[in-house]
Amino acid sequence: MSATDVTAAETTEAAEAAVEAITNAASKDVTFSMALTQDQKDIRDWVHGFAADVMRPAAHEWDEKEKTPWPIIQEAAKIGLYGFEGIAQFFADPTGLGLPIVNEELFWGDAGMGMAIMGTSLAVAAIFGQGSGEQIGEWIPRCFGTVDDVKVAAFCSSEPNAGSDVSAIRTTAKFDEATKEWVLNGQKAWATNGGIADVHVVIATVDRELNSRGHAAFVVPMSEAKGISEGAKVSKHGLRASHTADVYLDDCRIPENYVLGGKEKLDERLARAKEGKKNKSNASMATFEASRPTVGAQALGIARAAYEYALDYAKEREQFGKKIIENQSIAFTLARMKMEIDAARLLVWRASWMGRNQVPFENAEGSMSKLKSGEVAVWVTERAIQILGGNGYTREFPVERWHRDAKIYDIFEGTAEIQQLVISRAISGMHIK
Ligand SMILES: Cc1cc2nc3c(=O)[nH]c(=O)nc-3n(C[C@H](O)[C@H](O)[C@H](O)COP(=O)(O)OP(=O)(O)OC[C@H]3O[C@@H](n4cnc5c(N)ncnc54)[C@H](O)[C@@H]3O)c2cc1C
Repeated sequence: MSATDVTAAETTEAAEAAVEAITNAASKDVTFSMALTQDQKDIRDWVHGFAADVMRPAAHEWDEKEKTPWPIIQEAAKIGLYGFEGIAQFFADPTGLGLPIVNEELFWGDAGMGMAIMGTSLAVAAIFGQGSGEQIGEWIPRCFGTVDDVKVAAFCSSEPNAGSDVSAIRTTAKFDEATKEWVLNGQKAWATNGGIADVHVVIATVDRELNSRGHAAFVVPMSEAKGISEGAKVSKHGLRASHTADVYLDDCRIPENYVLGGKEKLDERLARAKEGKKNKSNASMATFEASRPTVGAQALGIARAAYEYALDYAKEREQFGKKIIENQSIAFTLARMKMEIDAARLLVWRASWMGRNQVPFENAEGSMSKLKSGEVAVWVTERAIQILGGNGYTREFPVERWHRDAKIYDIFEGTAEIQQLVISRAISGMHIK
């Protein structure tokens, strides 16, 4: 079935089937292989076609407009690339390579539009990772809307004073026993799709004394809840076709069962934390851990776009009576660009396979993949500008946009420094600061 065949009423049924497929696939023992299956090659080529034919030609325009490219998201929804069924199909791939392959191709097309399409998946990952079966079936399809009424979703963890330091979150969620509602208050910063989304997954503190162990994730639908509003939209260096904004929660009331995992489980978790017992990782960290290799794949897509463009350019451009690639300094740079991209991809695929097959990260392999890919994307796009010379520095050529887009991969979903902190703690078993 393609996404276009799905009506709103059928969506929950489709969601349940997809969740079952994902759960069944996770229980199989899948050997790691770098040889893509025919299905994976077909999906890669299909997404590549969309990236080349729909995204690339519109990339410059939407970067200049600095607006959410709704027509592109709608096009993606029409062909089943944006929507619950699509993401479930990519995620269900038992090798774990479905999501990174799709993300690399999309972000090869354009990172701003790629994020406009994939930004929803951070909220989806939070609901999938922390929600009950019923919540997954209800909320994930609502994150995407329908083909005729496309929606986006937002994941709101960061705050003005809580970026890398997630434990500093000050947004509160208090339970009102009289009305059996949660009351949320606070300010969220930098939320991708913040304010333009319907479903907002908001991380708030239920018990401040417990620091990040007192956090919980709440679903706040803009269409239902009063007291949630969009703050200032951020004007950015890159990813400009992706909407980023503050979100305000002002006595925002939501029903008891809008806490992910349910109130009963939350109460049990908080009680364990108060007794000093260990819980699974906190609400923000659990989402970031799961999504890091996929984010790394996005950075790879940008890097590959810049490398391919620079390679073609170097084979065409002549100076001193020869192609510039005939100079070793240019050829060697391109050789290193290719090698670094391939090395980063190996880390991304390894972490994706481990994550999908529930092989525990022992040395922060997810963080390694994201750190390496982000650094490679920044370096490769910068070198691409160099290879294009003056042209590389102008907005007439796409490499300067790719360089602007790449930089965010050193910053969001854990900065490069935070990834190193995570890796160094994992390898040493010590609390490096
Ligand atoms: C385009 C964009 C989209 C985003 N989307 C989302 C989103 O959808 N949802 C969301 O919740 N957030 C989002 N963010 C926020 C993003 O996750 C944060 O910007 C990021 O976590 C860094 O936090 P910060 O900006 O407050 O930097 P800070 O935490 O203030 O860090 C500043 C600098 O100090 C360094 N630093 C901090 N602590 C340490 C330490 N202990 N050791 C060494 N160095 C340290 C950092 O590495 C960094 O270099 C987005 C941000 C951007 C720019």
